[in-house]
Amino acid sequence: MLGIDRTIRLPLAGKYVAYFCPSHKMLAEVWRTARRILLPVTRSANKTDHRIELITGGIIDMWSLENYDSIRGRKYHRVVVDEAAMCAQLEDAWQAVIRPTLTDYAGDAWFLSTPKGINFFKTLFDRGQDPAHPDWMSWQMPTLSNPFILPSEVEAARRELPSIVFTQEYEAAFLQSEGAVFRNIEACLHAPLVITNDAHRGHRIVQGVDFAQKHDYTVLCAFCATCMCEVELDRFNKIGWGLVRGKLKAQRERWGIDETLAELNSIGSPNIEALQDEDLNIIGFETTASSKSPLIQNLVLAFERVEAQWLNNPVATSELIAYESIINKMTGRVGYSAPPGGFDDTVIARSLALKQAQKSDCIAEHGESLW
Ligand SMILES: [Zn+2]
Repeated sequence: MLGIDRTIRLPLAGKYVAYFCPSHKMLAEVWRTARRILLPVTRSANKTDHRIELITGGIIDMWSLENYDSIRGRKYHRVVVDEAAMCAQLEDAWQAVIRPTLTDYAGDAWFLSTPKGINFFKTLFDRGQDPAHPDWMSWQMPTLSNPFILPSEVEAARRELPSIVFTQEYEAAFLQSEGAVFRNIEACLHAPLVITNDAHRGHRIVQGVDFAQKHDYTVLCAFCATCMCEVELDRFNKIGWGLVRGKLKAQRERWGIDETLAELNSIGSPNIEALQDEDLNIIGFETTASSKSPLIQNLVLAFERVEAQWLNNPVATSELIAYESIINKMTGRVGYSAPPGGFDDTVIARSLALKQAQKSDCIAEHGESLW
């Protein structure tokens, strides 16, 4: 209903909207509904092209994404993609075909769906939660938030369905794929949010740093080794290296940090050298195929055993959920990475901070732990 509402509103004011759905079968149903609702204001309707022209001059085109190539060259004020998570080629359809139709009118796009694992729909959802994408918004609505559905019906479904099905279909949860790495994430997101370091006075706080490669983000993770909890997670991109080092130093000063473990690769080493020249205690960590797995595995275990608490940062939590293990068929070794198109900067920075915190030869003056 939301999809139909978004689709017909602008054409009532004379504008052009396209509605997309995953299959011809679904298209036929929505077409019938839209026709019925719009009948009093319809000037003409073409069932072959699935086009409705209104007396206002507004136009609605409806498409199945089964063969989206025929859509090229149109212009719309709005597009609606219904059951977007079910569209197998959503990413390509959006980038190659749908997105360009919005350029002329600076139109908007709506993606509606029940989740279906960690796919491109999840990527779009995450943009809505990420302050780095101010043009995007996202909302998650479990079935129970619908006032027109009886709670007793939802309860009945909960009893009858496998929990994994219920969680996805009724609670609108993005469930991890088979290769998911991090378990127990929810139980480990209770790091107390403190703005000053008063609560951690006298504690040993360390820093983990992942320097941005070309397209990703620099992440600074400050972690209290005494409390075993994260105290600050800073993530940013598109700023000069001088400013990056300035932010790194500012976080050290803010939290009284002495030890930093930073990724050494490519752009890491000149930055680490520059900071070492200023007599800062910064250790480089070289991630290779053989050093990365134990580093990540260590963080995975900390989650499984609930040994550390982390800030509930939506971007970082999404990266944990999406993180994947891949078994290399040639070597049989397990590797870890973000899914294609995803980022893992917060995972790396947190892994480094945890590793440094666990270093046993740094004896802390133990104060009272916060949790
Ligand atoms: Zn502390």
